[in-house]
Amino acid sequence: MCAERNTDKKKKSAATGCSDGKENIIMSKSKQNFSIEVEGMKAVCPLGEVVGNKMIAEGKIPVISCEGGCFRGEIARVAAHMVAKEEPYSRGCHGEMFTAPRSAMAEWARKANKVVVIDGCFMHCHGRIMKNIVGHENMIQFDALPMYNKDNKYSDTMLVDEIPEAERKDLARQVADKILASLKDSTPFNSEPQLSCGCA
Ligand code: SF4
Repeated sequence: MCAERNTDKKKKSAATGCSDGKENIIMSKSKQNFSIEVEGMKAVCPLGEVVGNKMIAEGKIPVISCEGGCFRGEIARVAAHMVAKEEPYSRGCHGEMFTAPRSAMAEWARKANKVVVIDGCFMHCHGRIMKNIVGHENMIQFDALPMYNKDNKYSDTMLVDEIPEAERKDLARQVADKILASLKDSTPFNSEPQLSCGCA
């Protein structure tokens, strides 16, 4: 089945004209920073206030992830839930951390010793935002994709439903275990970033 997928991928690459040159262009596009204006609001999530303050009091380390709609984002999201079940971690809400700076959730991110960010692919979307909130040195960032995408088996998978739930859970478990081991040893997970499309 894997061989079949790789053959399909080659066909797709040939069809799209994706080559090493194009891959380099995709990986190295503009690094110019930019801003997004966020509509402010006075309200904060009442439950988020309770949880955020509790997490600050208990000295927990927040874990956030890519919450994107694709298969890779889903694996990162489920893996984040798994990591957050272990001490001293707990699941954080990136929504309030990014858009409600006066919320207890955002305060938790700023006060925590570290924030763990599990991104779904090499785009590192959440990490690129979070490092500007808590500082690069206070963030531990992971790219989930290279942890399970052996032989580029999942490089062409876009929709969550393309992969059965049990297989997704198993992949998320693999990612969570690797991240927990890396956090325990204080060693970064060394892997080459992988493109999310069939070009890799
Ligand atoms: S393409 Fe990358 S950033 Fe977008 S949802 Fe998927 S994993 Fe997340």
